Amino acid sequence: MAIGEILLLGNPVLRVKCEKVRNFADPEVDRTIQDLRDTLNNFRISRGFGRGIVAPQIGVGKRVIFINMDEPVAIINPEITKRSRQLMTMWDDCFSFPDIMVKVKRHAKITVTYYDENGKKQHLEAVGGLSELLQHEIDHINGVLAVDRAIDSKHIILRSEWAKISGASKSVHVL
Ligand SMILES: [Zn+2]
Repeated sequence: MAIGEILLLGNPVLRVKCEKVRNFADPEVDRTIQDLRDTLNNFRISRGFGRGIVAPQIGVGKRVIFINMDEPVAIINPEITKRSRQLMTMWDDCFSFPDIMVKVKRHAKITVTYYDENGKKQHLEAVGGLSELLQHEIDHINGVLAVDRAIDSKHIILRSEWAKISGASKSVHVL
């Protein structure tokens, strides 16, 4: 168990399409999940926010996501099987560029199949904050970052400027 160093925007590892986990008995899988858990917890303690993290952000090119909204969950090899036509627009951010805010559009509702840490197939329907979070994290394991999803280039701004215009808006979803 260890707190990983979070890779930052510009690091080419963040742009790699990650590989599927094929052997759930491999102790590396468990170690990656533990490291993601520790790193996310540490970030939450030090910065006061954070809901999700992915393996490539700590330098591991595997399709492993760890989220903590209501409870901690490892999500492995996720696939989005349904996307609502309805979209939502919000300011997004990322551990890999913590001082930047990006306005993005996401599907309001998605259905995801994935494997849990025991290698058991699961599926979930996500709406609102969870839907947005999972779209952000699944983009990550495909090498896609929130800045790529900006509705236009004017909506990539510094967090300090965003704070002035938003008045610390409650509509922000911090990742
Ligand atoms: Zn991110």
